[in-house]
Amino acid sequence: MRKISIAGKSIALALILAGCAGKTGLTDCGDYWVDTSVTSLNQDDRVRYLVIHYTAVDDRESLALLTHGAGSAHYLVSSLPPVVNGKPVARLLVPEDKRAWHAGISDWNGRSNLNDTSIGIEIVNTGFTESAAGKRWYPYAPEQVELVARLAKDIIQRYRIKPDNVVAHSDIAPLRKSDPGPLFPWAQLAERGIGAWPDKNAVDKYLAGRAPDAQAPVADIQRALGRYGYRLPQHGKADEETTRVISAFQMHFRPGDISGRADAQTEAIALALLEKYRT
Ligand SMILES: [Zn+2]
Repeated sequence: MRKISIAGKSIALALILAGCAGKTGLTDCGDYWVDTSVTSLNQDDRVRYLVIHYTAVDDRESLALLTHGAGSAHYLVSSLPPVVNGKPVARLLVPEDKRAWHAGISDWNGRSNLNDTSIGIEIVNTGFTESAAGKRWYPYAPEQVELVARLAKDIIQRYRIKPDNVVAHSDIAPLRKSDPGPLFPWAQLAERGIGAWPDKNAVDKYLAGRAPDAQAPVADIQRALGRYGYRLPQHGKADEETTRVISAFQMHFRPGDISGRADAQTEAIALALLEKYRT
């Protein structure tokens, strides 16, 4: 008697989902058949988000921690990705249809626990070191950025991930995380169609002649960032939590100044993003 394992069943179901079950409409699942002749229109992808990280440690430790430590990610981009036949190599550590543990406690645009619904890419990068002069951040190698761009583009297309759902770990957990940091080239990726970016004309419109570093109402920025997707207080006070969230936003969209201060340029960028992605 042929016994089918759980793993075998998941393969059979994967074949059904992939439309590989043939035209007969019946798939043999061992002790029963599955009729796949009718498919509902009412479905979408379970993956809705792409989350970008840095590992903060070197290649060897990154691989050890992400495979045998407390966390994991679907993909790992090494400090200098190997090239095979002219194409860079990304490591797949967790299959895309499995949940990787990369986001932790997280929120974005009204949803929480993004591990359930995201693909995570970890990039080997030191992150930052602190000294009396402040934080020193470490740049990404062009080869890493090129691989992340190719990988992200493919994932975004396959799951139809919306631009504003391509996020930094610091966007979805701003009180705990700073990765991938202000040197991650979001603007460069946006030029290649990856992730969200505001239109310059809209930013100028919302700046409305104010100096970029002019003070802006904290309540207005809290409201705008809250509407865009960040979880933050709405009390109009520039407390520690609000400052951290504004800084996370600035790391993504205005990396030249990530102080977390509520300034006019930050407000204008947030309003331009709302106009583009939330109307
Ligand atoms: Zn992270």
